[in-house]
Amino acid sequence: MRAQLLTAPGRNLAAADVPAPRPGPGQVLIRVRACAVCRTDLHIIDGELPHPKLPLIPGHEIVGSVVEKGTHVDRFQVGDRVGVPWLGWTCGVCEYCQGGRENLCDRARFTGYQIDGGYAELTLADQRYCFAIDPSFGDVEAAPLLCAGLIGYRTLRVAGEGERIGIYGFGAAAHIVAQVARYQGRQVFAFTRSGDQAAQDSARGLGAVWAGGSDETPPEPLDAALIFAPVGALVPAALAATRKGGTVVCGGIHMSDIPAFPYRLLWEERVIRSVANLTRRDAEEFLALAPAAGIRTTTRTYPLAEANQALTDLRSGALEGAAVLLP
Ligand SMILES: [Zn+2]
Ligand SMILES: [Zn+2]
Repeated sequence: MRAQLLTAPGRNLAAADVPAPRPGPGQVLIRVRACAVCRTDLHIIDGELPHPKLPLIPGHEIVGSVVEKGTHVDRFQVGDRVGVPWLGWTCGVCEYCQGGRENLCDRARFTGYQIDGGYAELTLADQRYCFAIDPSFGDVEAAPLLCAGLIGYRTLRVAGEGERIGIYGFGAAAHIVAQVARYQGRQVFAFTRSGDQAAQDSARGLGAVWAGGSDETPPEPLDAALIFAPVGALVPAALAATRKGGTVVCGGIHMSDIPAFPYRLLWEERVIRSVANLTRRDAEEFLALAPAAGIRTTTRTYPLAEANQALTDLRSGALEGAAVLLP
């Protein structure tokens, strides 16, 4: 099968012909129909996340159809459409798994990082970490739901019930989270790179009540702020825009260093926290909510062979919405 391979961090992906994988017990073989490109893929390819499987097929926002089942597969049939997210395997026995926090499993393995992912014609997945996708979504449209949607949803959930939600970094996750927040009756305040009029217009188009640069002060203090851009300097900026007792949630897996800032920005019971990975419960909740909320994703498709171009466009900030690879 054709695949895009990472052979060493810091290199471009290489087009390769590799043997088609065969499903083991509990696994399904999936013909990939679409795979979205996530910022985490860039962090892996650039070597900012340590010890990837090598060589590696990246990609963890996979939509495809089951073409073969291993033994003991009972959740899906051949022909079913499934989505495969970042969380690829957990141990089920560590204290995190036992406590309902499998996203923090000590031995977790992740799709497109320790497990080959979806930048290929075929991929394998453990059936327990695959999800049905509502038929109202096309394959391309659905792909960004699998990470931008899921982790964005978890980020919003841990931000609490506040009404005024600030979103820093208006990429693929923010596009989806803004729609979820509006569906829940909240107000969205969008923060983009200073002077990025196009991103601010797009945020207003998705229902943001206010859009401005990340160096600007919103018209009202925020109840919570979600940071999706991998820029540590946004943490003190978001704290300064957040009211007493509010929460700032960092939604990314990697961020530049957070600069020193005055304690008064944190005082008055403001909270800074991060979100790591996802649980299967997040996936089930969000994939049920997405059709009910009428979530629409903005995508730009690339042939699988142009994966490097899609990554370059994501890196440069040239993309509105999500890049999606088509094998
Ligand atoms: Zn575990
Ligand atoms: Zn991701």
